[in-house]
Order: sequence, then structure tokens, then C-alpha cells
Amino acid sequence: MSSSESRHDFILPFQIEGAGVRGRVVRLDSVVDHIVRRHAYPASVSRLLSESITLTALLGNTLKFDGVFSLQTRGDGPVRLMAADFTTDGTVRGYAGIDPERAEELQDSAAGPEADISELLGDGSLAFTVDQGAHTERYQGIVSLDGATLADCAESYFRTSEQLPTRIKLGVSPGTKGNGRPPLPWRATGIMIQQVAGSGGTAGQPEPEEEPGEVWNRASILFDSLSFDELVDPTLTPEAVLYRLYHEDGVRVFEAHDVKFGCRCSRERIASVIKTFSPEEIDEITVHGHIEATCEFCSTTYVLDPSEARKS
Ligand SMILES: [Zn+2]
Repeated sequence: MSSSESRHDFILPFQIEGAGVRGRVVRLDSVVDHIVRRHAYPASVSRLLSESITLTALLGNTLKFDGVFSLQTRGDGPVRLMAADFTTDGTVRGYAGIDPERAEELQDSAAGPEADISELLGDGSLAFTVDQGAHTERYQGIVSLDGATLADCAESYFRTSEQLPTRIKLGVSPGTKGNGRPPLPWRATGIMIQQVAGSGGTAGQPEPEEEPGEVWNRASILFDSLSFDELVDPTLTPEAVLYRLYHEDGVRVFEAHDVKFGCRCSRERIASVIKTFSPEEIDEITVHGHIEATCEFCSTTYVLDPSEARKS
């Protein structure tokens, strides 16, 4: 087993031997810390955004082709929108759109691990989009936000829309501001297991003696035994957690993939969005002869000349 002890932001794929169950562990330290501190949202929002980014990396890493996997929530709560995406080279980004008139409803405490998402997001939907480039069709799956947590909503999506038994846990430990001591970073961990259809035995190995359903049920019960504290404990490596859960069946860990923060915005992309506006709308956003547009994901501000934004 390769050790992930000294790694910080990574995805570790694994497989439970002979059982047709695959999974991922995602651990994000400096990446979520960077994103969360850049935005300075109330802590309750930072926690949920960290979960979203972690979930996006967990699910995006299962794509078989190059592309972008995005997650977006839209709801009638004080957080109107949350967006996170994962590019298959391992780049993540994310932001939250807060209703300015309801910002005071948001607590500047990260609340407990069991905080209900409905207080922040209200009623709405969670959408997953897979975009594999200009010559392929975009794929989108949508589920309503009626689970208590983002992980519940994602599990329900896989159960109902994909008929793919899936378990997901997400854990965030909030960062601190320091107050004389070195500040602790925001950290997030996610783990998922998924029953992979038709992959019972591998070549050269005997067929498994158990029904795939039984193996899955056991894997799922063991998954439930993983506590929140174990999940977010920075001194426990993912290998140690996986060994604790699945050593009886045997667990194989594959090479880890690095994850980094990155934004795909550019002057050209911003200009192409503004080009879809009407001349009246462009006049409206032109101040002192120029247009200022800020990328929600990374807070970079672009200053454009209105002529750049008019349809050519
Ligand atoms: Zn950007």
C-alpha cells in the first residue's frame, strides 16, 4: 500500500476485493481552506460549500473520459445557489450565491455535522452535469433537495435515477482564525462506495461464493460504522480507515490523484457571456465607460471596454 500520510489534497480510489464494490476517499486541506478563506462566507455556508466541493471531487473522479463534472444547487433558502466543479485533471473550484436580503439568517458558526441543509438551501434541486467537450452531448441528472444532507441527496439520486447502490459520507472540520495561536485550516473528507454491476470476480480468481447483494449489504453496514470523528481525524490516513472497515474482505488501494484549486475563467469567456446581453443591458452595466465583471469562483475582476462586449 502506498502511504498518503504526507499528502494533502488527493483522491484515493479503492476496491473491496472480489466484491464488485469500488470507492473513493477524497481529502482536501489546502484546497478547501484556500477557497473558503478567499470568499469569507459565514461559517455555516463555508461548511456546506466545502462539502459540495468534496462531493464534486468524489463523483467527478469516477468519469472515464476527460471533461468537467459540475454540481449545482438552486433553492429558495438564503443560499440561493451553490456551484462546484471538478475538471478531470484534478482541478476544483466552487462558490455560494447568498441572497443579500437574507444574509442575516446565516450563522457565523459552522454548526454540527448533522446540520440540516434545508435551513441554508430551502426547497430546490441538486443538479449534476457532465460536460465532455464541444462534440459530445452534455448529460444532466437532477434530484430534489429533500435529504437532510448533501450526501443523502446524492445517494438518493444514484438509487432512484441510476439504480446504482451508492453510499456517501462527507465531513468538514472548520478552520479557526487563530487568536494568538496558529490558525487551523479548513479540512474536508469524503468517502463513497458504489456497487459496480457485473464485476464480481476478476480473471484467474474463483467466482465469489456470496451473492453480490450480500457483499454490498455488509460493505454498507461497515460503512455506517465509520464515525464523523474518524472521517475527519487528520491523524488517521485513509488507508488506516479503509483497513479498519474492510480488512476482512481485503481492500486494494490504487494510485492517488492530486487535487488542486484552479479557475477556468478568462477575459474571453467573460466577454463571450456579456456578448449574449442586449445593447440596453450592456449600457446598464457600463460605468464610467467600462464594464467590470468579477468571476464568482475566484473573485478575479476583469475590466472590459464596452466595444469588446458588443456582438461582432
Ligand atoms: Zn475565475
